[in-house]
Amino acid sequence: MNKDVKYSMVVKANAYGHGIEEILPMIEECGVDHFSVFSVAEAMRAYEIKKDYCDLMIMGFVDDDYLEWAIERGISFFVFSLHRLKHTIEMARKIEKKAKIHVEIETGMHRTGFCEYQLEEVVSLLKQHFVYLEIEGICSHLAGAESIVNYKRILEQIRTFHELCDWFHDEGFDPRYRHLACSAGVLNYSDSVMDMVRVGISNYGFWPSDETKMMHMKEEGFEEDPLKRVLSWKSEIMSVNKVPRGKYVSYGRSYITNRNSLIATVPVGYGYGFSRTLSNNGHVLVSGKRVPVVGTVNMNMVVIDVTDVKNVKVGDEVVLIGEQGDTSISVSSFSDMNNSMNYELLTRLPNHIPRKVI
Ligand SMILES: *Cc1c(COP(=O)(O)O)cnc(C)c1O
Repeated sequence: MNKDVKYSMVVKANAYGHGIEEILPMIEECGVDHFSVFSVAEAMRAYEIKKDYCDLMIMGFVDDDYLEWAIERGISFFVFSLHRLKHTIEMARKIEKKAKIHVEIETGMHRTGFCEYQLEEVVSLLKQHFVYLEIEGICSHLAGAESIVNYKRILEQIRTFHELCDWFHDEGFDPRYRHLACSAGVLNYSDSVMDMVRVGISNYGFWPSDETKMMHMKEEGFEEDPLKRVLSWKSEIMSVNKVPRGKYVSYGRSYITNRNSLIATVPVGYGYGFSRTLSNNGHVLVSGKRVPVVGTVNMNMVVIDVTDVKNVKVGDEVVLIGEQGDTSISVSSFSDMNNSMNYELLTRLPNHIPRKVI
């Protein structure tokens, strides 16, 4: 990718579950100096820990009461409605500081962004109040660039975005950053890469989809997955019990032992992001062996069958995601679906699970 393209690392949703306080400083060390978040609440966390020279951009929710907080600190934010634009102008005027904004335009996702019929009014407000505004960017978001079935729609969005940028240019606006591309945009549509990219999932070593992975590896001639995942999730054995053949395990009757079994518990459950869909379905690693989850996943506990593991004892490490010996459990096999589940699973890992950088 062109060196002049600004690289913004997306650290929303607690850095895709990895922990914003852990991830952000590491990425700073790699030379990234621009971070994107979804909301003011996330921006506050990032602001606390980022270096002074790093920029922050809020792509989503800013409560009116917090516009002042953002403007005061030079934090940029998307403006996608007249409501927000007017409040921004008002607040910037009040505190006598220019608001750094990114004008989000609708190109086909039909979620947020100014529609074409609003653009005349937007431009007239921008011109009228330019002393209170630093228009740092024009942007939009792609509606599913990770999947080939959306090919036509995405091409149409890219074309519309280019046209609207030209239109803004003719109106006298040339913001520093025109940006459209997320991970899948960067990987699949080079025309979507302009002055800035907002990259999330692939920073963390996950592909936006299997399709993207396969296409990209084939095109670039990679034999092995070039992306490395950095997250693992570990717990430990809390108790071990012998359970005779023919007994139901855990709530209800969804699992019955078909041999004399050794059953262990692990203190994670759906309350910690370990999905109930893994009941009688998921696997974890103990002593380098893949062992099944048996019975329903409880709120704070899962039950596993460790009959085939030698010398299991309380305190033994249990890997829910990651590697142990020669075996591994990936987030996607964990979610037992395709890669598009990565986003959901990662971001469901609760904030309160302790994170450790290794
Ligand atoms: C989440 C998000 C991104 C990053 O998407 P990835 O697929 O994780 O790279 C970029 N732009 C916007 C507006 C987003 O909400």
